[in-house]
Amino acid sequence: MAAEDCIKIPDNYEGYSLDMFCLPKHYENDVESIMIPKGLIHDRIERLARNICRDVDKGPLIGLCVLKGGYQFFGDLMNCIRTINANMDRSIQMSVDFIRLKSYEDDHSSGEVKVIGSDDLSALKGKHILVVEDIIDTGATMQKLLTTLQKFEPATVKVASLLVKRTPKSNGYRPEYIGFEIPDKFVVGYALDYNEYFRDLNHICVINENGKKKYAI
Ligand code: 5GP
Repeated sequence: MAAEDCIKIPDNYEGYSLDMFCLPKHYENDVESIMIPKGLIHDRIERLARNICRDVDKGPLIGLCVLKGGYQFFGDLMNCIRTINANMDRSIQMSVDFIRLKSYEDDHSSGEVKVIGSDDLSALKGKHILVVEDIIDTGATMQKLLTTLQKFEPATVKVASLLVKRTPKSNGYRPEYIGFEIPDKFVVGYALDYNEYFRDLNHICVINENGKKKYAI
């Protein structure tokens, strides 16, 4: 699939006002708009799952979830792949694994990517890996992870990211599967956090100054 084959949200997009959809009361003063409502996220994931299944010619596939931000996307993507598997003549055997990285404090990159938790990655040797990530911003985190994974000699590695940010700070990295390309704004919700808050927000929203102040470390 061509990398540009994704939904591009333009820079002048204002999103939806908060009173058009339901969101938790505890966050209603902390976000400025709803960028991507949950229903649209789900519809897009359905198609990403179909594209992934179409492209797999050798399995089994290991879905490698990048925690914590990727967990919601990972769960929904795996559910869609499971449904496709159960209903097609051809199916892909899948297993799951998890890795934990950290690169952000407040809304700024700490400039360093820390691997703060992982399973025994030697099990990845000779396997086909699908890395599942929430968002690519500069691309530094993913490049570091891909370099780390290569040391364990997997057969193939592909990456699915729900979001890719359009930013001048990008190092040019583009994953194989992208849900949405978004403007250079700090987004929260659908498991994307700001200092661990907003993971319990269902839509992808743009945080406002009040939210940043309220939940600053
Ligand atoms: P990168 O290394 O590509 O600059 O950053 C990747 C990581 O930074 C993501 O996995 C995510 O944890 C965090 N990140 C980057 N942009 C955003 C954003 O807009 N919102 C949230 N919640 N996290 C972000």
